[in-house]
Amino acid sequence: MALSGLDIYKLLPRTNCKECGFPTCLAFAMQIAAKKVELSKCPHVSEEGKQALESASRPPIRLVSIGAGEGKLDIGNETVMFRHEETFYHPAGIGFLIEDTLGASELEAKIAKINKLHFERVGQQIGVNLIALKCVSKSPETFAEAAKKVLAHSQLNLMLMSEDPEVIKAAASPAKERRPLIYAATKDNLEPMAKLAKEYSLPLAVRGDSLDELSELAQKLTAQGVEDLILDSGTKNISQKVNELTQIRRLALKKTYRPLGYPTIAITSSDEPYQEVTEAAAYIAKYAGIVIMKGVEPWQVLPLLTVRQNIYTDPQKPLQVEPRVYEIGQVNDKSPVLVTTNFSLTYYTVESEVEGSRIPAYIISSYSEGLSVLTAWAAEKFTAETITKSLNECGIKEKVSHQEIIIPGYVAVLSGKLEEDSGWKVKVGPKEASGIPSFLKSLKT
Ligand code: SF4
Repeated sequence: MALSGLDIYKLLPRTNCKECGFPTCLAFAMQIAAKKVELSKCPHVSEEGKQALESASRPPIRLVSIGAGEGKLDIGNETVMFRHEETFYHPAGIGFLIEDTLGASELEAKIAKINKLHFERVGQQIGVNLIALKCVSKSPETFAEAAKKVLAHSQLNLMLMSEDPEVIKAAASPAKERRPLIYAATKDNLEPMAKLAKEYSLPLAVRGDSLDELSELAQKLTAQGVEDLILDSGTKNISQKVNELTQIRRLALKKTYRPLGYPTIAITSSDEPYQEVTEAAAYIAKYAGIVIMKGVEPWQVLPLLTVRQNIYTDPQKPLQVEPRVYEIGQVNDKSPVLVTTNFSLTYYTVESEVEGSRIPAYIISSYSEGLSVLTAWAAEKFTAETITKSLNECGIKEKVSHQEIIIPGYVAVLSGKLEEDSGWKVKVGPKEASGIPSFLKSLKT
């Protein structure tokens, strides 16, 4: 049973030394009880206390890593049901199914296509994480050969899919340095799969057709010393699957139910490409740790990466760009100067419209704590004073021979005060970024 904050407090040194980053041992104990910090932050807790507190401080959903090196995928260790309560920490991995019966050139072409599924969005690199190699051939040799090809042609993480331990073993041996995920242990192969996972120190997916069965299998595996588990409640329709993923998350977080305290995997079942995207998006939102799909077209994948990026952004820390002056195109001392806030989405929207206009321009991203134009204005983070400060500090005065600045149409009200404070002439730009190209063109005529 979970310990209360007071129970935990009694097991701490109670010296209030603050080394954990909290003002008192009691404050630290309360955070442990809420699963928001780990016990290791207190360097003074006794061995006896550690043992007693181990289960209270263990994350309700275990952190599991797949792969090795820079691109490894960390999933789990989430602490809340809803993103607005705190944040989601470890973005769902997105992977693609490849069958081992594909011919060599087809296999390489598909791997190459998956490797290219990386994009830049609002200043961040977003991309896919896994290749899920499925044994259809039933041949350990064919499967191992295909696994070697994937390893040789891609740095993405690998998932080995077969319920035959001999098939998995054939590929696990050459792949073990890349720490692939084994998929899957079931009630029929539990013992040999557990043995393989332990022998090669690999994470193991376990599949049960109901939550009861899944829970029972997970307990058997942990009893055998296999801890890095990923849970699969089997193939279901979307609503059933989302329901089960939600129940697993709820039981782990709200009831501290350890047998289901692991990240989950969902494999799409739809053969219709649009439907598959919808299905995958639903699983990313609630609450899969890994989503495996068949479609590899960029138009299918970019929306999913966007959904994932949005869901896993800390709601308390808006994405920001560095507040400074940006040069778009071949600017010169006569190029127009626009100002906006340093909220990433706002900045990149303005930037893409300026680029689209093909008129070189400067954009000053004025520090606004990452808020969008109207929100920042309402919060007094985007005012005549803050814009004047940006004009004075960003170095734009050395770059242009004029003193004219274009402000967003939504804050036209700032014009008079800004002219007064900065000494620059203010032009009111369009309210929507989409109006920027025609606005910039109108300046030239
Ligand atoms: S580091 Fe440990 S002893 Fe010091 S205040 Fe934090 S919990 Fe208490």
